[in-house]
Amino acid sequence: MHGTRIASILSKTEGDTVDAQPSRSPSVAGSTRSTGYPTRPPLRRFLTDCYEEFRTDNSGELADYIPELTRANPGHFGVALVTIDGHVYEVGDSAVPFTIQSVSKAFVFALALETVGEERVAATIGVEPSGEAFNSIRLTNDNRPFNPMVNAGAIACSGLIYGVDGKGAFERVRSKLSQFAGRELGVDEAVHVSETATGNRNRAIAWLLRNYAVLPDDVDAVLDVYFRQCAILVTARDLAVMAATLANRGINPVTGVQVITPHIVARTLSVMTSSGMYDYAGEWTYRVGIPAKSGVGGGIVAALPSQLGLGTFSPLLDNHFNSVRGLKVCEALSARFDLHMLNRNADVRTCIMADYDVYGISSRRSRPPHEQQILDDRHSDIRILELVGALNFGTIDYVTRRLTSEPPNAPLLIIDFRRVPDITSAGAELLGETLTALGNAGITTILSGFEETSAVWAAISARTAEPRRLRRFALLDDAIEWAEDQVIYRFGGFTDVKESTHLGEQALLAELDTDEIAAIVKLSTTRHYSAGQRIIAAGEPANSLFFLQSGMVSVKLRSGVRLASLGPGMEFGEMAILEQGRSADVFADTPVTCLELPLDSFADYRRLHPETSLKIMRNLAAILARRLVLANAKVDLLSAY
Ligand code: GLN
Repeated sequence: MHGTRIASILSKTEGDTVDAQPSRSPSVAGSTRSTGYPTRPPLRRFLTDCYEEFRTDNSGELADYIPELTRANPGHFGVALVTIDGHVYEVGDSAVPFTIQSVSKAFVFALALETVGEERVAATIGVEPSGEAFNSIRLTNDNRPFNPMVNAGAIACSGLIYGVDGKGAFERVRSKLSQFAGRELGVDEAVHVSETATGNRNRAIAWLLRNYAVLPDDVDAVLDVYFRQCAILVTARDLAVMAATLANRGINPVTGVQVITPHIVARTLSVMTSSGMYDYAGEWTYRVGIPAKSGVGGGIVAALPSQLGLGTFSPLLDNHFNSVRGLKVCEALSARFDLHMLNRNADVRTCIMADYDVYGISSRRSRPPHEQQILDDRHSDIRILELVGALNFGTIDYVTRRLTSEPPNAPLLIIDFRRVPDITSAGAELLGETLTALGNAGITTILSGFEETSAVWAAISARTAEPRRLRRFALLDDAIEWAEDQVIYRFGGFTDVKESTHLGEQALLAELDTDEIAAIVKLSTTRHYSAGQRIIAAGEPANSLFFLQSGMVSVKLRSGVRLASLGPGMEFGEMAILEQGRSADVFADTPVTCLELPLDSFADYRRLHPETSLKIMRNLAAILARRLVLANAKVDLLSAY
């Protein structure tokens, strides 16, 4: 029925960088014109286009059964959209206050669930669509209101809260709705007085409920809570924030406050979906597919879970008492961006960013040759899975199928979470069960990429029943190193780091004969460092190189990133041969003994012994080439996925 209008909104050309609507910040519009660079997000432009197009529609009527509502300005039209990260888009009269009316029903229902619990609410009010107008005086066969979105159900909700708080009931309602909106909301006294004076139909409903003991004795007091809650003043912006709070699992995305539990949010959105738009609800869900609630003051809230909250205000109503322009905005938004809640898609496979073993890839710990040989032989003993994005039921199911259908012959499985911001409880449940089963099968799983305090780690570890076989490392590299240590330990043991090595084992001095090595030793000085001591500082002039004889050192960038860990028989600071200054820090991880060879005496020696010099330079080239091959393998791995 709104087909043609929506079609014209939908056909607005892409790439148009200038708003039709005069900008609220002229400087932005000005710069847009001068450079052609789009300085406004397309969603803002879309909302502006909607506003421009639908404002000219003057069809519909003001609600007049509450006399005060006829004083509304029929020209008012405001739209606000709040994203899940708390960004607020506003167009038109988004700051004009109006009474919330039936939109309150959704939030008061949530409050009733919170206040008296699900069981009491269910015993009092149904959740079936009534198929009738909001103010119908009809109850279900067992004499309960059909649902909390029609007046009978909403009055029953107010009654439940009144039963707990008595005179404090309205304040509880006002305060809760204020939390949803993120600011203190007030009441339009004139509208309240007006509805109190004329609300005999609601009085009839309330007394009918009293007859069936759905309401307590104080019928008038309960009605006053209901009339007052309907007269709460909001703006389209407020409604958008309130809706976004529902869309964001109960956390107000603007204030960050958890207003209501995710469980209650799901119940509230359910009744909004089935009954939120009065007797238009079925059609609405079919066409728009976004949980919504409207009110006779001209407001509509629409909450699309995990996407957005929309608030619209335009007091001209159609024959279902829904705001004409508001309805059009919702329809256009849903159609233009394909937002129907039942039209979802997701490619679960994108959650695995990389799946590999340590063939050609190793941790940044440089291993002595016999250890490296073990790792080269046993590379498939360590399998690494790097996950990406928020994980949920579908993605983790995919991960667990990958793990179980391709049984990891690897006894060590590393799963990296550094690109995972979140996991749902369903995801953690599925993963925990799989990790438990892998643990029982003797496989050790190492999770990396989060701190001890991480919620993702807490969720997964709490559901894994084989803690002996579950480890955590903050850094993937440390996890790989730990796994490598396990493999080396199983297949040949370690080089004792305290054991001194002969200089002839240094890669830089390979192929040198004993005389040549003796000459190098003569030029060098033995140095001792204690654990934690800095041996080389980035930025200092590079005037010597070191041969590590015992202990371990780590080469680190200023950022703390570890470039390499080295053990006996390895050199460091050797880049001094090529570069003027030190590019990284080197720390002793354990007590360290090394030989320091000053660069100037080394240079003299090389001049006198060009043959030896050639061997050393060739060795240096080989060391650098190996490093490059390793770095390329890592880059290749990441870009292959
Ligand atoms: N206060 C109004 C009433 O009870 C609310 C109705 C509505 O917004 N649909 O009639």
